[in-house]
Amino acid sequence: MARAPRYLDALNPEQRAAVETLDGPVLVLAGAGTGKTRVLTTRIAHILASGRARAFEILAVTFTNKAAREMRERVETLVGQGAEAMQWLGTFHAISAKILRRHAELAGLKPNFTILDTDDQIRLLKQVLKAENIDDKRWPARALAMRIDGWKNRGLSYAQVPAGEAQSFADGKGAALYALYQERLKILNAVDFGDLLLETLRLFRENPDVLADYHRRFKYILVDEYQDTNTAQYLWLRLIAQGRHNVCCVGDDDQSVYGWRGAEVENILRFEKDFPGARIVRLERNYRSTGHILAAASHLIAHNEGRLGKTLFTDGAEGDRPTVTGVWDSEEEARAIGEDIEQLQRRGHDLEEIAILVRASFQMREFEERFITLGLPYRVIGGPRFYERAEIRDALAYLRCVAQPADDLAFERIVNTPKRGLGDATLQMLHEYGRRENTPLMTSARILVESEEIKARPRATLRALLADFERWRSLIDVKPHHELAEMVLDESGYTEMWRQDKTPEAAGRLENLKELVRAMEPFPDLAGFLEHVSLVMETDEAAGAQKVSIMTLHGAKGLEFETVFLPGWEEGLFPHQRSLDENGRAGLEEERRLAYVGLTRAKRRAKIYFATNRRIHGLWQSTMPSRFIDNLPPAHVEVVEAAGASQYGSYGVSRFANLDSYNSGYDTPGWKRAQSAPRENYAKSAGRDSGRARQPKTIEGEVVGRSSPGSRFAPGAR
Ligand code: ATP
Ligand code: MG
Repeated sequence: MARAPRYLDALNPEQRAAVETLDGPVLVLAGAGTGKTRVLTTRIAHILASGRARAFEILAVTFTNKAAREMRERVETLVGQGAEAMQWLGTFHAISAKILRRHAELAGLKPNFTILDTDDQIRLLKQVLKAENIDDKRWPARALAMRIDGWKNRGLSYAQVPAGEAQSFADGKGAALYALYQERLKILNAVDFGDLLLETLRLFRENPDVLADYHRRFKYILVDEYQDTNTAQYLWLRLIAQGRHNVCCVGDDDQSVYGWRGAEVENILRFEKDFPGARIVRLERNYRSTGHILAAASHLIAHNEGRLGKTLFTDGAEGDRPTVTGVWDSEEEARAIGEDIEQLQRRGHDLEEIAILVRASFQMREFEERFITLGLPYRVIGGPRFYERAEIRDALAYLRCVAQPADDLAFERIVNTPKRGLGDATLQMLHEYGRRENTPLMTSARILVESEEIKARPRATLRALLADFERWRSLIDVKPHHELAEMVLDESGYTEMWRQDKTPEAAGRLENLKELVRAMEPFPDLAGFLEHVSLVMETDEAAGAQKVSIMTLHGAKGLEFETVFLPGWEEGLFPHQRSLDENGRAGLEEERRLAYVGLTRAKRRAKIYFATNRRIHGLWQSTMPSRFIDNLPPAHVEVVEAAGASQYGSYGVSRFANLDSYNSGYDTPGWKRAQSAPRENYAKSAGRDSGRARQPKTIEGEVVGRSSPGSRFAPGAR
């Protein structure tokens, strides 16, 4: 018998079975760090190396674009060349977008359709509400957006919305508004994120020949992070996989953290039903984390009731225990973590192997600021960061207007930014004309500047602006796209607007604009870049220097780092109050899974922090340690003093710094919400020097006063 390829040697027997079972459905159901993603990557390598299929005949779905990039790289390492030809490796959205562009006409779109992001979506919904005379104070566009997204996640077109739910918005207009919104999208030649999937589903259902073509094409299908697929994605997958049934999904029910976005853990159970004879593989050995970290994470997640249940073990060392550190406030938290990182750096640790995982993105700013002060290189990954910034959105809107002249939302965004005296009245006129004649705004503008309807001055301005766009557009194939972008931003007066701006943020915004132009360079053209931006919410990292990563817990799924900092483990923030309020027990369990995801990202060091004070929505609030801290097994956790914490900060720690008392309190019932806890908002002096120690006089009393009786962290607990 021929010797097995080397990459198979790097697997344990269960993993190897999952890789070698190429024919028929396979479901790998296993805990964090057991090598699920490695199985998928090796499986691709195996398919390629054994010649069962070529790169473009494999459909591989990852959860983020970053994960797709990593998978591509890993496959390349395994098989040498060839992975770059994997055209169908990406997120559900990216792959759907690609399919839709290939068959745009069948889907009722033009191939250059725009993909709207949330911000655009809401602007458009506002217009729909306005046109219907619905008060958007009472019925906010954002709420409607959530409702529509929810339906789309469940695979429902407006005609399929169940009667009961259709009544749910604006006195029974829910589904009707959904329909109107879709109509507007069509006029704009645009789709939103949910549509990418829904329209592909519809395309397949209405065009069996197209579907059959993909059945033939995709010899093997692989899906990572399967536990977080929503119904629309599941239906999409089932439709495509019904061709050859060679589908391999890997997932972990304990890491399902997108319930709020419609993910259905039940898809794991459906798999066995819809793909009879599926081989189920379980992996139990964790290769990522040291013993204490794994024990802490396993103990934590065991507090959840809704689990399929699984065991995890490691053959590795026990390692360091995860630490729990109390600090005074978020600023001190950032300072303490900054110092920890500097220390690791001095000891020769790689910054690439350090991550800060936050529950809510607002937490990031404090770290960013601190790291800038320290000169510590960092990057923010995932979520609505860089490309969500106002100046970036504006700049992108300009570029979209150049590349996609029918993009009304983009045009509306920049028509009077910088201020040109093109006010609401003018815009209103364009809108009315556009609605009447069914033309995009820029076309309407072009026609109206030739008539007397618009006053002389705005007319001249508008004419000049249109001429500018004509000129820029004529340069698309002439000038390198990033130079064109710079030109557009300069000549439109947009850059100048920020140069004239005297607010403290202006300099940073100009930096960001530069960064945007830089980010464009690697792309073949403007359209390619815009496509990338609409799909990717991840900042593209500058190559070279090592950096600390800052990201949300949600964004960290699937990743791993030597050292993981987990700040903000406080009641209200984590578990997040909104999850508790909206989803009760289920919400709490999802939050706990998120904590599990956070801990299991760590290979060697996990460092949990909680602050006793936090500013939320601009108000200072006193906070309690998260109940998840109470869920940790004392034998595997260490309570530490914050390095360099101010005396007030370390006070929060010294209350339970005696590990014995901490440990002995373990069996007492978990922390209960303190009835007596006063939610005080005490103002901090604005503009204070971030390095200066504060002198909160009454703090001790307050800390004592708001501690909960049941907590192991209560001052008197012994
Ligand atoms: P998650 O649930 O967090 O996505 P996962 O199950 O996908 O985790 P991987 O990321 O594939 O796990 O693997 C975790 C780590 O363990 C990786 O560094 C991987 O290279 C390593 N690993 C997996 N299997 C083996 C193995 N058989 N031998 C050595 N290392 C392994
Ligand atoms: Mg994984």
